[in-house]
Amino acid sequence: MVPVTFDKVRKQFGALVALPGLDLAIAAGEFVSLLGPSGCGKTTTLRMLAGLEQPTSGRILIGERMVNDLAPSERDIAMVFQSYALYPHMSVAQNIAYPLRKRGVPKAERPAKVKAVADLLQLGPLLERRPRQLSGGQQQRVALGRALVREPKVFLLDEPLSNLDAKLRAHMRAELIELHRRLGKTMVYVTHDQLEAMTMSTRIAVMQGGTLQQFATPAEIYHRPANAFVAGFIGTPAMTLADGEIAAGERGPLLKLGELRLDLPPGHLAVQPEGILKVTVGVRPEDVLLGRGEGRASIRVVEPTGHESIVLAKAGDVAFTIRVPGDAGLCPGDSVPFDLRRDHLHIFDRESGRRLNADRNFAAIQPMSRDGYDNPSSCGGIVTRHALSNGGAG
Ligand code: ATP
Repeated sequence: MVPVTFDKVRKQFGALVALPGLDLAIAAGEFVSLLGPSGCGKTTTLRMLAGLEQPTSGRILIGERMVNDLAPSERDIAMVFQSYALYPHMSVAQNIAYPLRKRGVPKAERPAKVKAVADLLQLGPLLERRPRQLSGGQQQRVALGRALVREPKVFLLDEPLSNLDAKLRAHMRAELIELHRRLGKTMVYVTHDQLEAMTMSTRIAVMQGGTLQQFATPAEIYHRPANAFVAGFIGTPAMTLADGEIAAGERGPLLKLGELRLDLPPGHLAVQPEGILKVTVGVRPEDVLLGRGEGRASIRVVEPTGHESIVLAKAGDVAFTIRVPGDAGLCPGDSVPFDLRRDHLHIFDRESGRRLNADRNFAAIQPMSRDGYDNPSSCGGIVTRHALSNGGAG
């Protein structure tokens, strides 16, 4: 297990600055996803780690060793791509053995290594088949096997599941989590799919425009987004982000959000508003309460998904996305009482986007290993909030 460090890494393609200066310290044995919209620099970051691109400046370390000037083959890494890139004329066993052959591993040692990998990935019965005789998921497993057989220190995965259908993808997500648990190796995973990042990672590096926006556990990123970009990017459906104003009220800070006037709980903000503070307010779909409260929401759209429905409702000028139970019985045109979970409101500075919450109720959580990640007791009391108390239509 080795750490991976990006130290002020800058990458320019001619005049275009893809990464102005990336600092990222990945701990040994972590599964870190680089997540962000198209063009944010995640593939460039991975390719520099692989040695397929040279940084313009800065240092990249694998373990204690600076690898800037090392060729990909000298870095002790293995990469799995979106396209499986298997050799069609070779059997599964030959495909997995190929890196061993190329590296001059004696012929007599190869079958045992191939068998160990095949057992790990449950490819044993498929070893004599050609790639075209395999499903997409099986082909991706062979590609993983070809990376594993080299026993690298670090695995780099570039959107390896994006060619698979939804069901297979879910299956492979579980397989990759299991694989990481068993191997305990450092893995760096590029994706634009937040579900993949949220479900598999020990920590997620959220990037935008070449800049790291937040590097934290999935729970922390969801419950405590560092800025308005991360808040809007993470979560499906996305959280409602709306302009608001905070002023000093009689009982503490008073939030004006559309027609709502809300006293914020004591200690909710890390700042004391002086005068009027212009903010962006973030509200997760599960933090809107229908059927109670002094506000009034007009239901515009109801999207049933089975066990829950996603509702679009307007309260004054603000359009909220709301998660309700599938049997909530709401219809477009209904006008219902409505409230917000005040202690769950995310408050961002409107100009800088920076988070202004005090976040006192959240324990600091920094699980670095798969064990830490999987162990609920390490989750610092953060509970995914699915509890809904929406009472139905008024
Ligand atoms: P995607 O999800 O679309 O793959 P990404 O987040 O992986 O996007 P990168 O591929 O790393 O983004 O690209 C970052 C920026 O660098 C983009 O503006 C891209 O156009 C630019 N870029 C990437 N590779 C090159 C290159 N070889 N030459 C010039 N510009 C490049």
